[in-house]
Amino acid sequence: MSTITNHMPTAELQPLDAAHHMHPFTTNDELADKGARIITRAKGVFLTDSDGNQILDGMAGLWCVNIGYGRSEMAEVAARQMMQLPYYNTFFMTTHVPAIALAQEIAKLAPEGLNHVFFASSGSEANDTNIRMVRTYWTEKGKASKSHIISRKNAYHGSSVGSGSLGGMAYMHAQGGLPIPGIHHINQPDWWAEGGDMTPDAFGMSRAQELEDKILELGEDKVAAFIAEPIQGAGGVIVPPDSYWPEIQRICDKYEILLIADEVICGFGRTGNWFGSQTMGIRPQIMTIAKGLSSGYQPIGGSIVCDEVAEVIGATEFNHGYTYSGHPVAAAVALENLRILQDEEIITHVRNVSAPALQEGLEKLREHPLVGGVSLKGMMASLPLTPHKESRAKFASDAGTVGYMCRERCFANNLVMRHVGDRMIISPPLVIQPEEIDVLITRAAKALDETYAQLKDQNLLRSAS
Ligand code: PMP
Repeated sequence: MSTITNHMPTAELQPLDAAHHMHPFTTNDELADKGARIITRAKGVFLTDSDGNQILDGMAGLWCVNIGYGRSEMAEVAARQMMQLPYYNTFFMTTHVPAIALAQEIAKLAPEGLNHVFFASSGSEANDTNIRMVRTYWTEKGKASKSHIISRKNAYHGSSVGSGSLGGMAYMHAQGGLPIPGIHHINQPDWWAEGGDMTPDAFGMSRAQELEDKILELGEDKVAAFIAEPIQGAGGVIVPPDSYWPEIQRICDKYEILLIADEVICGFGRTGNWFGSQTMGIRPQIMTIAKGLSSGYQPIGGSIVCDEVAEVIGATEFNHGYTYSGHPVAAAVALENLRILQDEEIITHVRNVSAPALQEGLEKLREHPLVGGVSLKGMMASLPLTPHKESRAKFASDAGTVGYMCRERCFANNLVMRHVGDRMIISPPLVIQPEEIDVLITRAAKALDETYAQLKDQNLLRSAS
């Protein structure tokens, strides 16, 4: 049996990690040289690493630990459920109480008409479900030709073959034969990086218009669905211009295209409502959920499905499912997470306390010479870095060089802030308090100052021509 423990020194754990553990989205050789950061415990919004550093987690893990770390109720529920029924499946005309109760609770919280849940263990799996579900839906309705799905460049919908195809990350498509046939990508509504001289609203309309153009190009009778995150997360926290979503909704309605809102990040309070669709005023037929559903305490995801689609799918055998669909321990833990979110009024806290405090703090960072703007909705935000604010110029260095430097300075100052290209990303636990946001902002400001000094030293404060 392994004798590896939390108390071993970093220098001993790192080579063991490098020897046997292949990390996701990582150049493992580089990591082996550098040594992985080892997180040993966490409480509230702070992580502790194997050197004893107290790191403020400005990313809530991977956008998921909405209720914060270390909630003993979650552990107690998991232990109780494991003793009672650690596993049973939901195939073959069988169910169990955690799955029944969680599906009911999700249906209660979801927007009107979204009353059915198909469970998965992750956002990727749920989006794979969605591909098969929308195609099956149209086939069952006698319109099998409606099989194409439109998504967006720089969208993130997961890393499996199906969900990675839905996503619009070129660097992911470059590996492993993605995208699968029948998936199309239109441009994203990223005004800061791509809007040029257009007003945000005119730009939003033009990017929404691309959906109509694509539908007409493919043929209205060929398109099953459009999938999008209400606010792109992994693509760089891109809050679309106000004009964008109403126009997308109009187009989906006009051409009878199912709208799939990928709520994996936006769901469960992150934008100040239960779902990002409510914040952005959209009416999807299907919502993808994961992450904040359990605050990351257990792997669970799913698709929330509207009555009409569920009715059509329900009339046939849907040959799809996962061993862990509705896993009883994960479901019980998710249910407890939803109880905590409600009983502690955490979404009201986001709206009245944490989001306004984050906005106030980020407004101070807007003054920093490197910060080109602030993009924020609720508790998700990004700061695009730029060598020249007025023109929203990009750096002459390879995209991501400056963002990576800044991320490293954040780590050095005990702050987790991720970078997407040269944008810095913030998505802390929803329960963060104003005084903790002050710590976040102070550390971020110091990291930005150090990055600026480094860029000056290395003559990297130059704009791309
Ligand atoms: N959709 C979105 C919007 C996401 O942000 C993610 C994960 N970052 C996924 C899907 C995939 O979820 P998972 O990693 O749980 O498969």
